[in-house]
Amino acid sequence: MPPARARQPQARIALDTPITYLKGVGPARAEAFRRLGILTAGDLLYHAPHRYEDASTVAPISSLEPGMHATIIGRVVSKGVLPTRKGLRIFQAVVRDHSGLIEAAWPGQPYLDRTIEKGDVLLLSGQVRFFHGRQLLPREMVNLGDEDEGTAQGRVLSVYPATEGLSFKVIRTLLDAHLDTLLAQVKETLPADVLAPARVPPLPEALRMVHRPTSLAEAMSGRARLAYEELLFVQILQRRANALARSMRQGIVFENKRVLTSRLRKSLPWELTHAQTRSLREIVGDMTSPRRMHRLLQGDVGSGKTIVALFAALLAMENGWQAAIMAPTELLAEQHLRTMGRLLAPLGVEPVLLTGSLSAAERKAALAKIGSSEPLLVVGTHALVQESAVFGKLGFVAIDEQHRFGVEQRKALQAKGETPDTLLMTATPIPRSLALTMYGDLDVSVLDERPPGRQPVTTALRPESARQRIMQFVEREVEKGRQAYIVYPLVEESEKVDLKAATVEYESLASGPFANRRLALLHGRIPPEERDETMRAFRDGKTDILVATTVIEVGIDVPNATVMVIEHPERFGLSQLHQLRGRVGRGAEQSYCILLGDVGEEARARLDVFVGTEDGFEIARADLQLRGMGDLFGARQSGEQTFRIADPLRDEALNETARGVAERLLASDPELERAEHAPLRAALQGRYARALELFRVG
Ligand code: ADP
Ligand code: MG
Repeated sequence: MPPARARQPQARIALDTPITYLKGVGPARAEAFRRLGILTAGDLLYHAPHRYEDASTVAPISSLEPGMHATIIGRVVSKGVLPTRKGLRIFQAVVRDHSGLIEAAWPGQPYLDRTIEKGDVLLLSGQVRFFHGRQLLPREMVNLGDEDEGTAQGRVLSVYPATEGLSFKVIRTLLDAHLDTLLAQVKETLPADVLAPARVPPLPEALRMVHRPTSLAEAMSGRARLAYEELLFVQILQRRANALARSMRQGIVFENKRVLTSRLRKSLPWELTHAQTRSLREIVGDMTSPRRMHRLLQGDVGSGKTIVALFAALLAMENGWQAAIMAPTELLAEQHLRTMGRLLAPLGVEPVLLTGSLSAAERKAALAKIGSSEPLLVVGTHALVQESAVFGKLGFVAIDEQHRFGVEQRKALQAKGETPDTLLMTATPIPRSLALTMYGDLDVSVLDERPPGRQPVTTALRPESARQRIMQFVEREVEKGRQAYIVYPLVEESEKVDLKAATVEYESLASGPFANRRLALLHGRIPPEERDETMRAFRDGKTDILVATTVIEVGIDVPNATVMVIEHPERFGLSQLHQLRGRVGRGAEQSYCILLGDVGEEARARLDVFVGTEDGFEIARADLQLRGMGDLFGARQSGEQTFRIADPLRDEALNETARGVAERLLASDPELERAEHAPLRAALQGRYARALELFRVG
């Protein structure tokens, strides 16, 4: 259809009117809107502000004093970029209101010179300091363009997510022009008994509050309504998908014979933690039911997932079935073989290893055992899913560090049996409600407790100036017979530079402070066999210090390693740092994790969270809040984000309510076919394509 905006700009705007029909939206802006997922006027209505500026608390410029935190509105009377002696470029603007003038400065942001024009009205909030007079350092800025200063005062300003070629001003102007027309066409989609438990306003009212709030509280209440609907929809979709999948999920019915499992429990050198016992009970429940188990065992590093998987494997074996445990690397597979071998020796069970580096004869022997229908435990790498591995009677599979495997590999292992019960294990700590939201057809057990007697790892952030002292400290630990890791970041785009940094550093360490020590270098460009060799040498105490990029194996257990120095800590995500720190503190000795480097203020605030806690959940929570949800959900389907407004983490309480309501709703009307649910179903299907497969189109 040709862009008709020139001909019919005043035609009645409906919710499904293409955005290109709106006055002021040409091809370039339409393209920018498309990038934001906005194709129709109705989409625009759901484009909620990402933040609000409370202009009702604006101070007159003349009242500002150094030390104050203030919000002002003023017009730019002059502006420019100043270089400083240190090479930092500062954007400065002098703004004026009815009461006076003040200079505002943005160090390091010279590019603002391109977006801020003389005559623009700015809303600024930040700290006032004394610097050749009063100066404002804005933390927040909204460019109100050529708006009259007076109109912005006394109201809450909606600030919209913008994109290149589409400023928030344009978005706001369009919304201002069409909001009333559009709102008049919006109808509530949720039945009263679905809406009430969340204590949120009805849809038309909520949309008005979101775009044109009279107070911040009102804006939040409107937002909650939109978030609730999203959370509810996702819960409905997942419950429905689970119910459909479950009805197709016939599995093996194991019997809890308590033969091997009881003997293992008796011979264990320690007691299971409460969390382990609880998870195990959930797993046994699944395995003894006719339903096929599909469960995620989630627990922080060192929470003791392996033993839980081992009990499940024994349950399968005492019923005459084979069990397989797959790990992402040879090293981890070998580690599992050794620890499990030790624990199972009193029971007369000997696990079988299957990895790529077995000799031809070993491999043949292993494959022969696997091919028989004897009950046994196989531990291995992805070698387990190769064609030559044919299982005689596979009834249980566990996949350790499951996120390291592709969906295909996980499926391939399950396909080695007819309907094996499956346990996925992960150390990536995700809050429970989020795990339920992220993984559809999956039950979750959580190990939220550590085995007793673990020493906390002493963690600190140290500046560059402390480098020498830190290295001396590492030397003293090595002198005592301990081992250390020195870790460098590796970010893909700058991989070459980073590798060089790690290599150069390795050489200078090896010829400098640690000239008398045994050092090894480990990074992603080293071939896997050589990498494994290096890790084995470190595990066996044949090297003192491992200089490595982030390829250090997840899950690897070297109790003698007590120090980890992390270079450029600001370049790591918090969860990544947490995984790294999990490599130390595994033995009886006091361990240390030292973040080394001069970091900016923002990075420091983030790293302080990490320094302050060893709780993986808390760290994950902070990490998520800082990074947003994007990468956790992986590649989003284009144009259909799971959440546009809700944040399952921040909206945890709302999510819980949504969960309860979704459960009740589907229990009473599993197909959503009752007449009073028609608007809800239509909205659901309009929003999520998946809903079309899960519910018959009404
Ligand atoms: P992860 O969950 O990171 O895979 P592991 O299964 O490797 O953790 O367990 C970490 C360490 O804790 C192992 O050395 C294991 O033997 C030990 N462990 C596991 N459960 C307990 C327990 N209940 N009490 C004491 N130590 C335990
Ligand atoms: Mg593990």
